[in-house]
Amino acid sequence: MIEKRQFYINGRWVDPSVPNDHNVIDPSTEEPCAIISLGHQADTDAAVAAAKAAFPAWMATPPAERIAAAERILKAYETRAEDMAQAISMEMGAPIDMSRQQQVTSGTWHISNFIKAARAYEFDAPLGDHAPNDRIIHEAVGVCALITPWNWPMNQVTLKVIAAMIAGCTMVLKPSEESPLNAIIFAEIMDAADIPAGVFNLVNGDGAGVGSQLTSHPDVDMVSFTGSSRAGKLISKAAADTLKRVSLELGGKGANLIFADADEKAVKRGVLHCMNNTGQSCNAPTRMLVQRDIYDQAVETAAEVAKSVTVGSAHEEGRHVGPVVNEVQFNKIQDLIQKGIDEGARLVAGGVGRPDGLNRGFYVKPTVFADVNNDMTIAREEIFGPVLSIIPFDTEEDGIAIANDTPYGLTNYVQTQDPARANRCARALRSGMVEMNGKSRSAGSPFGGMKQSGNGREGGTWGIEDFIEVKAVSGWT
Ligand code: NAD
Repeated sequence: MIEKRQFYINGRWVDPSVPNDHNVIDPSTEEPCAIISLGHQADTDAAVAAAKAAFPAWMATPPAERIAAAERILKAYETRAEDMAQAISMEMGAPIDMSRQQQVTSGTWHISNFIKAARAYEFDAPLGDHAPNDRIIHEAVGVCALITPWNWPMNQVTLKVIAAMIAGCTMVLKPSEESPLNAIIFAEIMDAADIPAGVFNLVNGDGAGVGSQLTSHPDVDMVSFTGSSRAGKLISKAAADTLKRVSLELGGKGANLIFADADEKAVKRGVLHCMNNTGQSCNAPTRMLVQRDIYDQAVETAAEVAKSVTVGSAHEEGRHVGPVVNEVQFNKIQDLIQKGIDEGARLVAGGVGRPDGLNRGFYVKPTVFADVNNDMTIAREEIFGPVLSIIPFDTEEDGIAIANDTPYGLTNYVQTQDPARANRCARALRSGMVEMNGKSRSAGSPFGGMKQSGNGREGGTWGIEDFIEVKAVSGWT
């Protein structure tokens, strides 16, 4: 059993102010695998005070030095890749190969992209030739609370920490209580990279405790939050009294529009994308919208593909999907699958219950529903499990209308070989991202949503700017 009770505050590992043990459960076995501590108000206050004290000097540190610090973090991160992969698999259930090849490497990718974006970024420049005495200074927002989920833990941590640091902010990270171990390794990486004391602090805790202490703290200037739309609303309200900047990356219910002229691999690609990370991705294409002409064939293919997806322990190597993160999620997904059946959707793969032979662990059957109506609960709620809903549509206008008929607006997908139609759809879809014909985002592209999927943009230049105040100075000599 791993025991990691300390927090990282002001460049040192410190004991919690009050003992408050929390078991981390391995979702592959349902057994406790680690003990951490949940912080109290005194721990939150100490971390915020350290970040506040470190802010003036870090803000004034030249950007080139802040970028050099990110380069040291990248080197240290690479040396701990296997430790992080093992921790992620153990605490949130991503199979070890997937942890190595997707979860951990997403962090490497983000850190490298931020370094490139920051090298090209104008932190401080004249307004223009017409106004030589006006200067625009891109200045750090201040002390930031960074609150992250468990589903792509290192992805989220690096997106926030590195952007905030390069912008000149200081910070307190509160990772999900479901996945604290990889964040503890990340704090060890920050320590090894010699980041000045107080710039980065880590306090473990849950949403009701450290999470809400940070979001209402008078000395926190900004909250950068990734998680559910439910918690996003609570955080916005909690931050309102002190008028903090709030950057939100929330849930999604992505539509994948498959037109009759889509390439032959479009359906298979869509199913596998939906099931990746056991369906626990905010940008998963969970609603497959299929044009009527190819509907029957698409349903048959989707069912076959889902049945070919194997499920197994996160500790076994291979290309299977793992369990879902915890019992609450497991039960919620089972209820939603049952609701899909009760509301009249046609089950063509998977269903309620665990896959054969997996009696212990939070394992869910890769499930596909056909003949789904966009008003059904499974088409409206973010399930966050390996469950795909297939919805037929007739014309381009119908498809776009169904895709946009959701409170969410994170990522939508389009599959067609007609470039003019692809581009029309990209403009008409109300989401922060549109990915077409299997092309995923390139390095430096911003990640974020519209509507109830949030308002922030992470990654590359836009990610750095999330943590920037724009100061206009006139009379500069
Ligand atoms: P969650 O909202 O339950 O928790 C996320 C984090 O917020 C955790 O650290 C939690 O402790 C904390 N938290 C919860 N309530 C809080 C409160 N009232 N005040 C302060 N902090 C609070 O989400 P989760 O289950 O960890 O993650 C899954 C959700 O995250 C899904 O909805 C998913 O779509 C979303 N997500 C979004 C993105 C994105 O970029 N848009 C990326 C990944 C995950």
